[in-house]
Amino acid sequence: MRQPLVAGNWKLNGSLGAISELLSGIGEQLSAVKVAELAICPPFIYLGHVQRLIGKSGISLGAQDCSDQDSGAYTGEVAATMIKEFGCKYIIVGHSERRHIYAESNDRVAKKYEQVKNSQLVPILCVGETLRDREDGRTEVIIAQQLDAVLGRIGIDGFVDAVIAYEPVWAIGTGETATPEHAQKVHEYIRNKLAAISKDIAANIRILYGGSMKPENAKQLLEQNDIDGGLIGGAALKAKDFIGIALAAN
Ligand code: PEP
Repeated sequence: MRQPLVAGNWKLNGSLGAISELLSGIGEQLSAVKVAELAICPPFIYLGHVQRLIGKSGISLGAQDCSDQDSGAYTGEVAATMIKEFGCKYIIVGHSERRHIYAESNDRVAKKYEQVKNSQLVPILCVGETLRDREDGRTEVIIAQQLDAVLGRIGIDGFVDAVIAYEPVWAIGTGETATPEHAQKVHEYIRNKLAAISKDIAANIRILYGGSMKPENAKQLLEQNDIDGGLIGGAALKAKDFIGIALAAN
């Protein structure tokens, strides 16, 4: 049984005050969430602040990225082991904004993924095609390359207790959502690809959908067989919307 995970990626948003307000709004509605696990991924600098505020609420904490190195002369980087010290459970790797704005290659994403696993944290590996890829009929090819980079580096066992997020780049922050049918088809492809190597690992891995998910479309998406939750951007910045998505899993 895969517990749905609704993870909020706050990206480059927030301030000490705004975060306190957002978390108090989430806290007020938390008791209505019966099924989904909630996770919040704030900017690095606020991890300690969020850790204190969420306390023992049961909300999980995550980071949005990590270094592909564990220590040394890498100015500006943050290691997975450091993130772990702040009570994090999850680290997002390979978000499309990292891949496209900061030119992170599949290989670099795989190295980051390995750092997360080496720190005994749970990677949320983002995969997804651009609009161009989709129009060229290359969705599966692109996703296969993104998965193969990780498989090639640490093998199928690296997917035990991991999370994958399918995020079509054309749906992120655009208001456009993949139809539940399109999303399900790609999620099924991802699960089948892993199942060809290990049925057990594929059956247990949680595959989230990300891309303009909101309370209005969450139910239909979460009803699909292979959609096990959501990675939420914009809607995670509003307590009512974030909780509204989680309630769709009740
Ligand atoms: C994301 O960036 O992971 C995301 C899904 O963003 P949004 O929900 O804003 O499309």
